[in-house]
Amino acid sequence: MATRQNPGGTRLRSVAALVAVLAATACTAQPDPAPRPGLPPTLGPSQNTPNRAAGDGSIPENGSISLNDTGHAAIANLDPALLTAVRTAATNAAARGVELRVTSGWRSTQYQQRLLDEAIARYRSVEEARKLVHPPEKSKHVTGQAIDIGPTAAADWLIQHGADYGLCQTYANEMWHFELLTTPGGQCPQPLSDANG
Ligand SMILES: [Zn+2]
Repeated sequence: MATRQNPGGTRLRSVAALVAVLAATACTAQPDPAPRPGLPPTLGPSQNTPNRAAGDGSIPENGSISLNDTGHAAIANLDPALLTAVRTAATNAAARGVELRVTSGWRSTQYQQRLLDEAIARYRSVEEARKLVHPPEKSKHVTGQAIDIGPTAAADWLIQHGADYGLCQTYANEMWHFELLTTPGGQCPQPLSDANG
């Protein structure tokens, strides 16, 4: 089938080429959009991906960043509702002497896959790794709908008070991982045993 001659196809390709030339001509006739000096392209506004910052969202192991570090992809690419809720919680926690830090936020697909690969290597077991790290297609970090909070005192505080902001611990074996799972002042669902549970 694929080797059969098709004279009509040749004519169609010519038409397609002509259309392409016309489209290119039309494009050059349009004035270029005004440049925005002073703003790196990655920080400029984009209609399709608002607030998207460059990078894969990685934060070094045992490291943390501020909730206000909006230049970091881990923060900038979070679901705005989640970020607002955690910031409100952090303000009230700070008033009680507890600082909420972010140990992980949004992650790119590639970064999530890397974390899974590292966990599989570390535990030498896909099953054990999957209890702690979702594949990219299942991870709420990749969609910007999950955040990991540290240090331990901060995670403790958020487990106790998170529901006031709609924030819930998702997995019993991850005291640091929170998602918006209820309405502010509502009741959190019982945490799942682990990411695979
Ligand atoms: Zn997490």
